[in-house]
Amino acid sequence: MARILVIEDNRENLKLATLLLLNAGHVVLSAIDAESGLILARGEHPDLILMDIQLPGMDGLAATALLKQDPATAAIPVIALTALAMKADQEKSRLAGCDAYIAKPLRYKELYAAIDSLMGLTTRSVASADSAADQLS
Ligand code: MN
Repeated sequence: MARILVIEDNRENLKLATLLLLNAGHVVLSAIDAESGLILARGEHPDLILMDIQLPGMDGLAATALLKQDPATAAIPVIALTALAMKADQEKSRLAGCDAYIAKPLRYKELYAAIDSLMGLTTRSVASADSAADQLS
């Protein structure tokens, strides 16, 4: 179970992403623009962020770049979501600091696989920190 922030301006897509995440047992936070998403990311420190690229005002790439420049939020994995499944977009999202990339429409297997691979890294490091703590106590 993870706390996942979804930043997505399209209400249907937001609803779908939320449903898929809830079905997988995650806790969902959501924002419909980058500005309020950044405030939530800084205040709530989610375990992972699903970031739509095309947002009104600041876009998802600029928002990701800000998160990755801030030491307080740099470690939060960001999965970019875009309707434009083009090679140039993948490259741009990587340059902005996104950790993974998913083309919309969202497919649950692809979404869960991306989350598992990013959270797996986090889970392992948390697990080893826990077992180290157990040995100390
Ligand atoms: Mn959008």
